[in-house]
Amino acid sequence: MKLLKEKIKEDGKLIGSNILKVDSFLNHQIDPKLMAEIGKEFAQRFHKEEITKVLTIEASGIAVALMVGLELDVPVLFAKKKKASTMDGRVYTGKVESFTKNQVYDISVAAKYLNEDDKVLIIDDFLAMGQASQGLIEIVEDAQAKLAGVGIVIEKGFQPGGKQLRKQGVRVESLAIIESLEDNQISFA
Ligand code: 5GP
Repeated sequence: MKLLKEKIKEDGKLIGSNILKVDSFLNHQIDPKLMAEIGKEFAQRFHKEEITKVLTIEASGIAVALMVGLELDVPVLFAKKKKASTMDGRVYTGKVESFTKNQVYDISVAAKYLNEDDKVLIIDDFLAMGQASQGLIEIVEDAQAKLAGVGIVIEKGFQPGGKQLRKQGVRVESLAIIESLEDNQISFA
């Protein structure tokens, strides 16, 4: 997606040769017009899939997922990183090992919002090691729902998450794939 790649080039900041910081439009401050375009792009790529629910993980996935849900006219569900006291009844859980925060945690959604009749599109801001996506897939499987695919805003192609998901037969659509962050340069695939 050209607009997104331009924005990454313009505003992206590198932390070493592994982490891309996009706090000015995606992970802290959010650019609503860009989010709207991203929502349209995902909706167009997945429109034939008869998706019934968009699933993401808090917090950074929510803004993106919301725009996709708006375009596809389906509800948006986000997995919580801490089980809230207000989350009563049965829950589906998945395990995530955070690459950026260096910790393992459970993610969960209330079982009443996902079931075997659902066809789910998973959306997230970044794909690196694939842990967040795998945790969300666990939740989809736990609910016996169908998985339409995974939509990612920025995939770091030099990390193994995307390759592994595709190997599992999961349809992964990434709007920008970064090949390298070496030498203080952002290179796209
Ligand atoms: P994964 O589980 O695929 O390793 O990583 C996915 C999650 O880690 C994303 O939801 C994102 O929050 C975070 N993440 C991984 N790599 C980066 C990065 O280079 N920049 C930012 N801003 N977040 C990242």
